[in-house]
Amino acid sequence: EAKAIPGNSYRFFDAVLAADIEARASIERDLTRAIDAQEFFLEYQPIVGVESGSVRAFEALLRWRHPDKGIILPDVFIPAAEKTGLILPLGSWVVREACRQASGWPAPTGVVVNVASAQFRDRGFVDHVKHCLDEAGLAPGRLTVEVTEAVFSSDDAAVCEGLRALRAHGIRVALDDFGIGFSSINNLRTFPIDQLTVDRSFARAMMESKREADLVDIILKLGQTFQVTTTVKGIESEEQLDFIRQRGACEAQGYLISAPVPAADVPTFLARPESRLSA
Ligand code: C2E
Ligand code: MG
Ligand code: MG
Repeated sequence: EAKAIPGNSYRFFDAVLAADIEARASIERDLTRAIDAQEFFLEYQPIVGVESGSVRAFEALLRWRHPDKGIILPDVFIPAAEKTGLILPLGSWVVREACRQASGWPAPTGVVVNVASAQFRDRGFVDHVKHCLDEAGLAPGRLTVEVTEAVFSSDDAAVCEGLRALRAHGIRVALDDFGIGFSSINNLRTFPIDQLTVDRSFARAMMESKREADLVDIILKLGQTFQVTTTVKGIESEEQLDFIRQRGACEAQGYLISAPVPAADVPTFLARPESRLSA
């Protein structure tokens, strides 16, 4: 802001800035320690077929078991991990752990892993993913790498190249949070993807406004046009599930089906009768 700031406000802003820098440095130290101390773990949220009601995959969601602060959710520490570059070792661990755990699930149950754009700038990333699949004995088609559209905002050649290499290996690629942020139909034309997920903010909004409902309709039609799997996140009620079923969504994810659960609870879900979801 180039606005004139009266009197001693400069000192105030300096103090805010200093506090910000210190807070960042502190979380960076804390993250480094936490990686070494193995304080991170994954929870898994089931994703079901809208028609069948059966579990198709689980999304791996990162959690931090902090010794003083308790469980910390990713929205709090992922931005710091991205800024400090610690997302690289952390993200590599996520892929490895998710592949390892998923290899214990019956085929063809899939696993979805979130990947930050910075990870594609790491030259060894694609090889790391392939190595993790090999090591776990997991078929590449059971892994979906989820990226947000923000990865395309920088028009980054490394990202495109990485995504193409993953797909060439048989790994699925999903575009996360579709409909918010940098959404562009051009992304669907230019980038080879297998799946798009409708951001969870739509699940609520589509029940309240015709405009939002129409938007969801359009996104689902886009998915059909480009022949990609569509997944709607944030499904919390039967009404929302019926709504997206009528409009041809492929998959649903949200608290109605289940919140994210510990890895140990995954087998329970796979054993659960499919009839629990009303068809
Ligand atoms: P996401 O990929 O969109 O994941 C879905 C988020 O929505 C999760 O939050 C999940 O707990 C939450 N959610 C699921 N069902 C519902 C529902 O019915 N209603 C509502 N209101 N929320 C629901 P979580 O676990 O806090 O993760 C937040 C975000 O952090 C994720 O959003 C993802 O972008 C990011 N993230 C998580 N794990 C990783 C990771 O390993 N690496 C990277 N780079 N990002 C991650
Ligand atoms: Mg995701
Ligand atoms: Mg999201």
